[in-house]
Amino acid sequence: MKHGNLLTILILLGLAAGAVFGEVVLHDSAQVIDASHWTRVAGDLILMRPLMLLIIPLVLVSVVTGVTSIGDPSRLGVVGGSTIVYYLATMLLAVTLGTALVSLIRPGELPVEDATRLTAAATSSYEGSDIASTIETTRSQGQDRLGGAWINILRQLVPKNIVGEMGSGRVLGVIVFALLLGLSLAAGGERTRPAVQFFEALFDAILRMVRWIIWVMPVGVFLLVSWTVGRIGLDALTGPLASYMFVVLLGLAIHGLVVLPVILAIFSRANPFRFMWRMRRALMTAFGTDSSSATLPVTIECAETEGGCSRRSANFVLPLGATINMDGTALYEAVAVVFLFQLFGIDLSFSELVVVVITATLAAVGAAGIPSAGLVTMIIVISAVNMSLVGRGDDLVLPISAVGVIIGVDRILDMCRTTVNVWGDAVGAKIISQLVPDEPATG
Ligand code: ASP
Repeated sequence: MKHGNLLTILILLGLAAGAVFGEVVLHDSAQVIDASHWTRVAGDLILMRPLMLLIIPLVLVSVVTGVTSIGDPSRLGVVGGSTIVYYLATMLLAVTLGTALVSLIRPGELPVEDATRLTAAATSSYEGSDIASTIETTRSQGQDRLGGAWINILRQLVPKNIVGEMGSGRVLGVIVFALLLGLSLAAGGERTRPAVQFFEALFDAILRMVRWIIWVMPVGVFLLVSWTVGRIGLDALTGPLASYMFVVLLGLAIHGLVVLPVILAIFSRANPFRFMWRMRRALMTAFGTDSSSATLPVTIECAETEGGCSRRSANFVLPLGATINMDGTALYEAVAVVFLFQLFGIDLSFSELVVVVITATLAAVGAAGIPSAGLVTMIIVISAVNMSLVGRGDDLVLPISAVGVIIGVDRILDMCRTTVNVWGDAVGAKIISQLVPDEPATG
C-alpha cells in the first residue's frame, strides 16, 4: 500500500475512533470534560502545537517565494486582485445561501417550552463559558462594531514591528511584510538572487517538517475529536438545537459540495471531486483541529504535491485565504444570528437580512483561523442588526448573552465550517493556478 493511502486510512480511523470513544467512553462518564481534560491536553501537545509552531515561519517563507516566483509586479497585481474578488464573491454566496436557508426553514420557531428553556439558560451558559471573557474583551475594545474591527485589520495591514506581529501570531502583518520583502527581492535581480534561493530552500525544508508532523495526525485527530464529542455528545444532534444544527450543516454541505465545485469546474479545468480527494489530508486536518491556521501547513503541502496547484498561486493564495477567506464561518454566522433573533421572537425585515449578509461577510474576514473565532466575531453581526432595529424604532434587541444558547454545540459545527473554510481556500488556489502556472505547468 502506498504511504499516502495508508496515512489516509489511519487518519479516517483516528476521526471515527475519536467520535466513538468520545461518545461511548467520555460522554457517558461522570468526568468533567473541560479544557484541562487529558484528551485535549494530549491533542494539543501532539498535533496543535507542532502545527502552530510552523505557521509563522511558513507564512513568511511561502509568501516570499510565492511573490519572487511570480516576478513581474503587474502580474502580482492581477493575481492579488483576482484572489480578493474570489474570496469576497464566494463568501457573499455562502452567506446569502445561509441567510436564505435559515429564513426558509426557520429553525428558531420552536415549541414554546423548548424556546423558553433555551432562552432561560442562555445567560448562565454564556457567563459560565470560556468564550465569554474573549467576547467581553472584544466589546471593551470597541471591536464588536464593524468600524472598530476594521481599524484593527487596517493596523495589522500596516505593521510597525514585524517581530511583535510574529510573536503575537498576527498573520496578516507577516503577509504584508513578506509581500514587500518578496517584491524587493524580485526587483533586486542578480544582487538579491542568493537570498531568493535561500528562501526557496527554506521553504522546501519547512514542507519536509510538515510531512513529518502529518504522521502524528491519526493520533492527534483521535484525541481532539474524542474531546469534542465527549464534551458535547452526539445526542445534541437530536435535541432542541437539532434543526439549527441541521440548517448550518445543510448550508455547509450545499456550499462545499455544490457551489464551490461548480465554481471550480467553471473557472479551472480540474475535476472538482478528484481535487477534493487530493486535498483530503488538509480537509481532515481542518475537521480534526477546528483551525484553518493550524491546518495551513498541511493545506500548502497537499495543494502543491498532490493537488497540482502552482507554487506561485498556492504560496500566496493559501496563507492569505487561511486568514481572511472563511466561507464556512460567514455562512455559519448568518444562520446563527438569524436563528437567535427568531428564537428570541424578534422579527427581522428584508433590510435587516441585508445587514446580516453584509456584516457576516465582513465579520468572517476579521475572524482568526482558530477554534470558535466565528462565535466571537458573530457579535459584530448581532450589534449591527440591533442598531438597525433601534434605527427603525424597535426597542426589542438581542442581548449578546443570547449566544449562550449555541455555545454548547459550537465545537461540532466548528469542525465542519473549518473544513469548508479550508476547502474554499484550496479551490481558490486551484483557480488562481490557471492565471499563474508554474513552469513547466502543473495541474
Ligand atoms: N475555526 C474556524 C477556522 O479556523 C473559524 C471559526 O469559524 O470559528 O477557520
